[in-house]
Amino acid sequence: MAIETTTTINGSAVTHTPAPLDASKLVITLATELKPLPKPESLVFGVEQTDHMLVVHYDPIEGWSAPEIKPYGPLSLDPMSSCFQYCPNVFEGMKAYAGPSGEPRLFRPKDNMARLSRSVERVALPPFDMEQLLILIQRLIKIESRWIPDVPGHSLYIRPTVIGTRAALGVAASDSACIYVIMSPCGPYFRGVAKGISLLGVSESVRAWPGGTGGHKLGLNYAPGFLPQRVAAKQGYDQILWLLGDEDRVTEVGAMNFFMAVKADDGGVDLITPPLDGTILPGITRASTLTLARAHTSGQIVLPGLSGVKLHIHERALAMAEIAALSDAGRILEAFGVGTAVIVAPVGKIGWKGRDLQLPVHTGGLGPIGKGFWDMLTAVQTGRTEFEDWSVPCL
Ligand SMILES: *Cc1c(COP(=O)(O)O)cnc(C)c1O
Repeated sequence: MAIETTTTINGSAVTHTPAPLDASKLVITLATELKPLPKPESLVFGVEQTDHMLVVHYDPIEGWSAPEIKPYGPLSLDPMSSCFQYCPNVFEGMKAYAGPSGEPRLFRPKDNMARLSRSVERVALPPFDMEQLLILIQRLIKIESRWIPDVPGHSLYIRPTVIGTRAALGVAASDSACIYVIMSPCGPYFRGVAKGISLLGVSESVRAWPGGTGGHKLGLNYAPGFLPQRVAAKQGYDQILWLLGDEDRVTEVGAMNFFMAVKADDGGVDLITPPLDGTILPGITRASTLTLARAHTSGQIVLPGLSGVKLHIHERALAMAEIAALSDAGRILEAFGVGTAVIVAPVGKIGWKGRDLQLPVHTGGLGPIGKGFWDMLTAVQTGRTEFEDWSVPCL
């Protein structure tokens, strides 16, 4: 990955080769005192920090610095840093799960690294070697493995982050960067959603638009959603159902991908999710849900509890008027959001144009379809069931 670059220093062109990201240069400084572990039942998503973090810096002359694992703590950055001004900030969300012998396991981590690379490229940050970063993340997980709560439904959330650190105010790509990886133990994202989460369909504000950046995990996609989210919460809704275009097409739910299960004419089930048209974040849980649904349809696997249930998979546009008509006809079986943090979250109702569409209520929140995916995904994530090479032990 060595890339030769030319920089002008004191008027003359200097050619140099910035160092690639190299996990073998890792320097580890362990914390002298470890924090007490929180009680699993009291965990709130993304609040507690583990003892250590991974930090690597890039500068256009030297390239990537020797990676460091060191005690968790503040970063020191120049106030002119690009990340505070023009927001070339990108991130990932992944989890380490405890396997059958207590070994930490990642779920499709190469897909997270590939998406992080695409995000980095989209905001013109310096590229990094994905395999080396994954090795470094695995080293950090090994060091922090005591933080993975040994309780079903719990895991260690991992937040790889890349920020632009060019210390100058000119509006330009950041030629300097910092990768850091922090971790937080977590339990179920939504506690007590027996009734399912309530959604407010919003089209006055849009999360993403054609030609925009909604298909990438960029920090700048999220802050503009905070005010609409606050307004929705004041009206009593848990999350926003982001709509787009004249037909109020569904894009996403909060920061989750959206699925709907509808009674099909042949007695089976239509499983519908909007297509990846650039306005939708290509979720790894979404891709996994679709792959598992197709494997179920082809007879390769049987989703738990769904033996004999025929699934027809549709990646297609879903307009609110169609959802309202399906709801009125009593054909909606379930709707749910999917993502790494929640895995599968049931939807209980959708507010749209002043009315509430009530979706069927299921004991425990998830209906049989959502539960089938939840059970299968968590079984694979924790290494209890093998599926392709999705679960990767950290050795
Ligand atoms: C991260 C994210 C998702 C879910 O992606 P996963 O890879 O499944 O965690 C969905 N939508 C948005 C907007 C996201 O940021």
